[in-house]
Amino acid sequence: MESNPQHDDELVFVSDDGDVPPVEEPVQRAAWRVLIVDDDPDVHTTTTFALRGTQVLGRPLQFMHANSAQEACAIFERDRDIAVVLLDVVMEQEDSGLQLVRRIREHYGMQETRVILRTGQPGYAPEMEAIRDYDINDYKTKSELTRNKLYTTLTASIRSYDQIRTINAGRRGLDMVVRATSELLALSGIHNFAHGVITQAAAFVRGRPDGFICVRRPPELRDDNHDVVVIAAVGRYAPVLNKPLGQVSDEVARDALERCLREERHLFEAHGTALFFRSRDGRNMAGWLDTQDIVEGDLRRLLELFSSNVSIGLDNTLLFSQLHNYAYFDALSQLPNRRSLIQKLDEHLSGPERGGHTLVLVDIDNFAETNDALGHYFGDLLLQAVAVRLQLALGRDCVLARVSSDTFALLGRTEQLMPASLQALFREPFVIESQELMVSVTMGIAHLTDIEGNGSDALKDANIALRRAKMGHRGEYSFFTRDMAVEIRERVKLLQALRQAMERQRLFLMYQPQIDLASGRPCGIEALLRWRGDDGRMIEPDRFIPIAEHSGMIINIGEWVLRLACFQQVDLARRGFDKLRVAVNVSVSQFRHPRFIPSVVAALKDSGADPARIELEITESMAMEEADFINRTLDDIKVLGVKIAIDDFGTGFSSLSYLQRLRVDRLKIDRAFVTDIVGDERAGRIPELVIQLGQKLGLAVIAEGVETADQADLLRRMGCHEAQGYHFARPLETDALLDWLNHHSTASSK
Ligand code: C2E
Ligand code: CA
Ligand code: CA
Repeated sequence: MESNPQHDDELVFVSDDGDVPPVEEPVQRAAWRVLIVDDDPDVHTTTTFALRGTQVLGRPLQFMHANSAQEACAIFERDRDIAVVLLDVVMEQEDSGLQLVRRIREHYGMQETRVILRTGQPGYAPEMEAIRDYDINDYKTKSELTRNKLYTTLTASIRSYDQIRTINAGRRGLDMVVRATSELLALSGIHNFAHGVITQAAAFVRGRPDGFICVRRPPELRDDNHDVVVIAAVGRYAPVLNKPLGQVSDEVARDALERCLREERHLFEAHGTALFFRSRDGRNMAGWLDTQDIVEGDLRRLLELFSSNVSIGLDNTLLFSQLHNYAYFDALSQLPNRRSLIQKLDEHLSGPERGGHTLVLVDIDNFAETNDALGHYFGDLLLQAVAVRLQLALGRDCVLARVSSDTFALLGRTEQLMPASLQALFREPFVIESQELMVSVTMGIAHLTDIEGNGSDALKDANIALRRAKMGHRGEYSFFTRDMAVEIRERVKLLQALRQAMERQRLFLMYQPQIDLASGRPCGIEALLRWRGDDGRMIEPDRFIPIAEHSGMIINIGEWVLRLACFQQVDLARRGFDKLRVAVNVSVSQFRHPRFIPSVVAALKDSGADPARIELEITESMAMEEADFINRTLDDIKVLGVKIAIDDFGTGFSSLSYLQRLRVDRLKIDRAFVTDIVGDERAGRIPELVIQLGQKLGLAVIAEGVETADQADLLRRMGCHEAQGYHFARPLETDALLDWLNHHSTASSK
């Protein structure tokens, strides 16, 4: 491949062919660039003429010219990519050449460029130290430079230049790979890794770094045409970044990379090089480099070594990205997860984007029921469909995350997240497995300006608003306010205190007597829960029972109350009050709990209580829910022989027909209707109606909240059987109850 140098020792400098102008060779990127520095114009001419058309190591030469050390420096200022400098020793000054060498090495840091000194005076030679220190590669007198010798000298220099470059590039490349890999493990991800790889690969081939890297997407992210995407691109390829490989317009590169990935090997071709990077999990990577020429020899081996190093780095990086994905992405929806959202919220809250931004939690109503009814597979598809719909509607400006099984979070500009427009997204049904399904959502909304604290506080606050919205009807939304936070904090404190109170046995029961109005004698007692705080003060049941219900603690508490009440019945019977009923309040969640009936059975059995003397009070609103379910449970209770009363009667709006179907024993007129019963015609109507209703249905009626003798009198005249209230007795602790009973009972009621 090398041109045939003439074998005669023709002295080029004595050639009289002086009219050949010093022409600049046509610029070729792959050419070896040789700078001639000489104050003698003839040297320029003859050198270029002698070496015209010559190739070294398969590449042409490109000459550059400087007539003085100063001119040479001007060239180095802008261009140091030079293989060989042919340098005249004596120019402006005796040692201009040597000084320039020092500058080349020390000032311009050009360690790889080879330097050949030439001098017209054979007697003048630089010191050995200078040759060593400045890494001068050859020293020739001008007379020695016949065409043949010039060629040999230049070839030797270029070869050593090439080797030095290759070794340095290799070292740099490996250094860079090692560095890139460790840097990547510190969180930078596959894109940065690939960018590092392509930049470094380009450094090997000495060209301008023009190239790009693409990677096969993981199967779960693939769609048909776009399974290979460009993840790093430099130089003239910069615009193809993030494009699918199929859309890269450079046909040569595209075709080479496709083959490279298919055949799983490097391709060293005339227009460039396709490097293959194998990864263990099948996410192979391929890189294209504009190398112009076929890469061969040492450089090829080095690129191969480099690529296998990259593969190792790639495995680490992919592994890391995957871990990163697991940690920050939800596998089902491919959306960022809670942790990722909190990170983004943190960024928003600490940045200028706090104002004008809003966090919305979108909770799918009755998702658990859908899941139970139609199966988890269907449920998953529904969640994915919701995610897709939200994503399409809101676009990229808005962060969409999945924060719990059926709750999505939206973070974006406030005007983009207006509740009405979000709800409008759910007006159309979802079609899942060709089944249409209407979905409604409940939303909790928090403006970032209302948030005190960090990202996870923001999420908590939006959750508070969501829970508030859920207390109303499904399909509603509510905004977080700071008052809410205060209230919630209070509730949380109270809940913790209640837990402790249970452990420390600060809960106890009081009993309020119930009176048979006809005889004026006690006929029962109602068990009422009490909590004495650490400071001795009582905490109202109206305050703590809703919290106990909400947190589920009421299940345990209620069970305990029931057991205690049963033991109380047994104790009273033992003391001779065997006709007294013990009424126990039962809350909704307790009543619905699958453990409820077994717990009643166990309480009766363990205590030996008389079931006929135990009465469960359920509220009217509860009794009105889901008739079938309620009736089934009521039946189970009846089978045990236990009585049932409907508490707070009159506050709900039970229809007569409904009541007829409900198998209960007693109606308990709510205190609210008793309070105004005297002196207010109209207020007296409701108790009267309830009493009549009871008579019609064969149910006993008791009035609660009776505070005066007049009220008791009136109720008795209306036909009410029983009453309970401060007029007769306040709720009493066990000892006081026994005293009271002994005082108010005659032998007959005993
Ligand atoms: P409730 O079942 O309607 O209980 C009657 C409430 O009225 C009791 O309040 C009682 O102390 C009060 N009261 C009785 N007579 C009068 C009166 O003449 N005038 C006035 N103004 N009030 C009277 P308490 O003990 O504060 O209980 C409040 C609510 O807490 C109860 O209403 C009941 O819903 C609930 N509760 C109490 N103990 C339990 C329990 O063990 N389990 C459950 N689930 N709920 C309970
Ligand atoms: Ca009650
Ligand atoms: Ca009541």
